[in-house]
Amino acid sequence: MSVKKTNQQRVVYKSQFISPKESQLPEEDAEPPPTSPTLKTHEPSGNTEDSEPPGLSTLNVESIPIVSETSNPISLLHLHPQLRLLRQRVSSGIPASLRSRLFCKTHFPEVSLVQWNDWKWQLKNRITDLRYLERLVNLSSDEREALDHTGGALPMAFTPYYASLLDRDDPLQPLRRTVIPVVGEKILSFGESIDPLGEDSHSPVCGLVHRYPDRVLFLVTGFCSVNCRYCTRSRVVGDRGNYHFGKDQWDTAIEYIEQHSMVRDVLISGGDPLTLTNDRLEYLLSRLRRIPHVEIIRIGTKVPVVLPQRVTLGLTKMLKRYHPLWMSIHFTHPDELSAELNEACGRLADAGIPLGSQTVLLKGINDDVQTMRLLMQGLMKIRVKPYYLFQCDPISGSSHFRTPVSKGIEIIRGLRGHTSGYAVPHYVIDAPGGGGKIPICPEYVVGKEGDYIILQNYEGNLYRYPDNLGRIDE
Ligand code: SF4
Repeated sequence: MSVKKTNQQRVVYKSQFISPKESQLPEEDAEPPPTSPTLKTHEPSGNTEDSEPPGLSTLNVESIPIVSETSNPISLLHLHPQLRLLRQRVSSGIPASLRSRLFCKTHFPEVSLVQWNDWKWQLKNRITDLRYLERLVNLSSDEREALDHTGGALPMAFTPYYASLLDRDDPLQPLRRTVIPVVGEKILSFGESIDPLGEDSHSPVCGLVHRYPDRVLFLVTGFCSVNCRYCTRSRVVGDRGNYHFGKDQWDTAIEYIEQHSMVRDVLISGGDPLTLTNDRLEYLLSRLRRIPHVEIIRIGTKVPVVLPQRVTLGLTKMLKRYHPLWMSIHFTHPDELSAELNEACGRLADAGIPLGSQTVLLKGINDDVQTMRLLMQGLMKIRVKPYYLFQCDPISGSSHFRTPVSKGIEIIRGLRGHTSGYAVPHYVIDAPGGGGKIPICPEYVVGKEGDYIILQNYEGNLYRYPDNLGRIDE
């Protein structure tokens, strides 16, 4: 296998670049620098776990073996010394699939594969405005109008990686609808509000929601790598308003947890906590792990789906130190089930982290049995247990995303019995105003006949079950 000589124009990595030290604890919010509207070619950080091995800047990306959706990338990298260097990189970052490589080459020709695979490059080059976006997709008039008048709405933002999953021409493609705004977002409908779950009214200190007796929701950042158009926390993610995240806020929230011994389970969320650097995340985890009554720590994230490059071996090595640690990952559609996601979830699972899914039921996106079955079965294949299917919260401007509750019941009925029980999530409504999650189930107990209850199975057949333990047959 030959390695071509460097094409000077393609070399964008500068080894003398020195990034800010990540070991510093945050004095302010921990998000990366804001994106600019034009394409940038920032260098990777100097952090040892995320930086490129020396010498790779002279490696022509076109000489790197294509990693297909099915091939084992590690097995391809054993012949050439430069490829051995790349193996160091691949073993830390997530290898790019053929789809990613083609997308990168087409739309970011000046960007090296090493940069593409760097999670910080992905964050710094998020797609955030109309001019940048229209280089990547053919916009509909609806999308264009929404982007022309964005005042007050959740800003658009998504990673170049996630852009590679979008359909260039179809504005109705499910994933595209979840990240590109449309005019429907500006319509306020019955029952909608900016904080439908009443989280702010259940926050004893900033960024901490204490709704259930033994667990708390700990919001640690307002930053997400992708701004979902239906986000329940768009008041936090899009426009921070009164929210300020950072070390002072974290410390106050942690002190609250220390003082409340009934809290045995902490869900770290945001925004997306996995957009924090390892050091900042470790600060949070280590402080929480030192609290004797905190038994379980959970992380809520969409990063493995929208920024799989973030799941470096350095991250998983750090996370392993804080078990029992669980992770809830936000999935939307089977189109998200890429080779990169597979690798990211495999690393997290190998680190001993139980993975569960959270999916919002969305009209025209995943509101049919076949789509949901494909997604849930796909999740099981990447070692993620389907956990929650959420009825879409009545966030302001969400009516074009919401389905009737009967649709969710129909989907659960179409899954239960028709596929593995493990692949059937709990369908829940998060009660408006802060009532918590309420499970919604199809009716399988359909009557009672004397000492028997009448049950209906997944095929609609009826069965009698003896249900009188007090009765003894003579
Ligand atoms: S990842 Fe979660 S918190 Fe972030 S924008 Fe999407 S729904 Fe909101």
